[in-house]
Amino acid sequence: MKSHDEGVLFTMLVVGLEKCLRQRTPYPYPAELQYVMNALSLCMMDYPKTFPDLLTMFESPVKDWWCAGDIPDSFDQRLRLIYMGQITEALEDFLTDGELRGVNLKQIMLHVDNLPFRKFYEQMRAAYDQAQLDEQIAIEAEYAHVRVFLIQHPFTTPAALRREFGLQWELLDKFYISVEPDSYVCRSGDAVWDCPACGALKSSRDGDPISVKPEVCQNRCPSTTAWQRVPIEPHLKVVSEGMLRRTVIPGRVELDLYAHLQGVQTRFATLNRPRIYPGVDAYDIQLHFGDGEAWAVDVKDYRDPIALGREIEGGPYRYSQDNRLYWDRFYYVVPDERESSYPGYCDKVRREAGLERTPIHILPLSVFCRDVEKKAWEIE
Ligand SMILES: [Zn+2]
Repeated sequence: MKSHDEGVLFTMLVVGLEKCLRQRTPYPYPAELQYVMNALSLCMMDYPKTFPDLLTMFESPVKDWWCAGDIPDSFDQRLRLIYMGQITEALEDFLTDGELRGVNLKQIMLHVDNLPFRKFYEQMRAAYDQAQLDEQIAIEAEYAHVRVFLIQHPFTTPAALRREFGLQWELLDKFYISVEPDSYVCRSGDAVWDCPACGALKSSRDGDPISVKPEVCQNRCPSTTAWQRVPIEPHLKVVSEGMLRRTVIPGRVELDLYAHLQGVQTRFATLNRPRIYPGVDAYDIQLHFGDGEAWAVDVKDYRDPIALGREIEGGPYRYSQDNRLYWDRFYYVVPDERESSYPGYCDKVRREAGLERTPIHILPLSVFCRDVEKKAWEIE
């Protein structure tokens, strides 16, 4: 178990409690609840003697008894967890907003892993929304700098962060954990393993390196012979597993597309330099053509076309009042192998999302890239 920061124990408690109240009997206690009950019994002077006493305690404000680490900002600690034998509306909201209902321990850890970056994103987004134009450009650039660095550097050291970010290095440090014997990365002797395409590798049950997302690695990464040993130098750090899954691995596709479009741009005077993560990640990439048309691109990597269709239902925000983020055409772009391994994938997403007959396109990556070149060539 990692540090108890960011409310991981509190999150475990409420997830376990919700599961427990759904069971017909409290026993066996859900693993999450059992774990936190142990933690509470260690830090409380007067830990309840029976399970009904514990439930009674949960009917009083959280701040009156909680002693096992942070309470997430999104839960008001003056409120209680249970009322008349049921979880309270405050707790319902907390579980729903965090998509935490019925999740397992692993998913809680991944959720908690992503909170520091989410907080950073929300702060930058709020600053962007209130800023003047020149400040907006700086905020957008700073956000992109941080995000691109994380995607390109799953492993780093404080010294490397200082070289890249100067006094701001501690901001980045929050997104990394130390490479220690209990960190998730695959360790062999004095090295850890890295995949050049998808980042840090973890250990299989037998201790061999395996990808964090094997189905992605199989399709997209060079063979396992390309996997590299990274020497463990002092203070070596790695992004958390949740960051690797949510930001680094999908981010590699975003950055490859961005690099490709930068290459296209050098060949056509009719295409302006692409912008990555415009408006603090309003979408992934913006293209501006010489005829004034703006295209927006968002890379989406879902195995299940129905899940992606639901995710993008109703289409993207239009930004019609915002010159910097306005778009004429919006493209959801999926890695080519999604369409090749599931013919009709893009059509299915489009139907599922209800986006037929709209200027919103869903295309495999290589088809999108050809459309960009065609458009740039036509207006030249
Ligand atoms: Zn890989």
